[in-house]
Amino acid sequence: MLTDRFHRVHDYLRISLTDSCNLRCSYCMPDEHIKCMPHSSLMSAEEIEIMARIFVDHGVRKIRLTGGEPLVRKEAADIIERLSALPVELTITTNAVLADQFLDQFLSAGIRSLNVSLDTLHPETFFALTRRDNWHRIWRNLELMLEKGLRVKLNTVVMKGVNEQELPDFVALTRDLPIHSRFIEFMPFQGNQWEHDRVFPAAQMLALISQKFDFEKLQDAKNDTARKFQVYGHKGTFAIISTMSEPFCAGCNRMRLTADGKMKNCLFSRSEVDLLGALRKGEDIVPLIQYCLDLKEEALGGQLRADYDHIEADKLQNRSMIAIGG
Ligand code: SAM
Ligand code: SF4
Repeated sequence: MLTDRFHRVHDYLRISLTDSCNLRCSYCMPDEHIKCMPHSSLMSAEEIEIMARIFVDHGVRKIRLTGGEPLVRKEAADIIERLSALPVELTITTNAVLADQFLDQFLSAGIRSLNVSLDTLHPETFFALTRRDNWHRIWRNLELMLEKGLRVKLNTVVMKGVNEQELPDFVALTRDLPIHSRFIEFMPFQGNQWEHDRVFPAAQMLALISQKFDFEKLQDAKNDTARKFQVYGHKGTFAIISTMSEPFCAGCNRMRLTADGKMKNCLFSRSEVDLLGALRKGEDIVPLIQYCLDLKEEALGGQLRADYDHIEADKLQNRSMIAIGG
């Protein structure tokens, strides 16, 4: 079992397949981010499989593929197939632009649930946020996923003055669609123009939604980061991920591998441990995995504070979100 200094068992690994993307979400990808990692520094499909097996041998039970956009990676299909042979719950976070090309493979790989990111229900706002005109394509792919019986969690990053007024519209969608709409507080990363007053905190999200809907609290699973709710009579649910205003680090079971094979013990960790370099030298990476976990701080990578008004975003030592893997 992979355990840290605070007795938290880590059985969930997120693997980033690439730091490239077919969208340009301003909160994720800094303007100046033009140079992607060279292909030679990315973990190959085989290296991803080897590393994943090692983590699974040490207790990992869930693997999420992410990025950048995981489906733009040339070897995405190969990687999904390789990982589908492992005894884990395999899942993926995607912007869904290319999802129609992968639906059958998701099903044959045993993927039953996936996270789709969509921050707005308005195509014009989508274009302003992502600099790409893909809203209708994503929506069609979302419908295809539902038709295929996939469980869809819809991730929405909520930014004050941009899309917070749309929250009730997302909740309204859950009346007839069995989707799980999740509202994520805007988090600070390198170069993403984060300001504390652009965060729309969980309490205000709930207050806004309660002006239009009566809802109940649902039971959350042990390591859930999302607090789940359901409007009476709706097919789907909604949830809030309150990283900034009410962090949930005590139940954290997550580890991350960046596309270039560095292990991060937290989304906000300063430290990274180079597993790929060690693997390529033929070294045993298990002691390095444990070393990385031993460095894990109790909360928020030891860098952010729960009173997020005082965070100086430009002083954070971290990668941009797109280069970490969300
Ligand atoms: N490209 C895929 C996608 O967009 O779903 C996967 C990678 S993306 C980095 C993973 C998740 O991180 C997305 O749901 C995205 O909305 C979220 N994310 C990115 N930057 C964020 C930020 N600054 N604050 C909160 N969530 C963020
Ligand atoms: Fe790409 Fe996802 Fe980041 Fe948007 S959030 S830029 S889709 S990686």
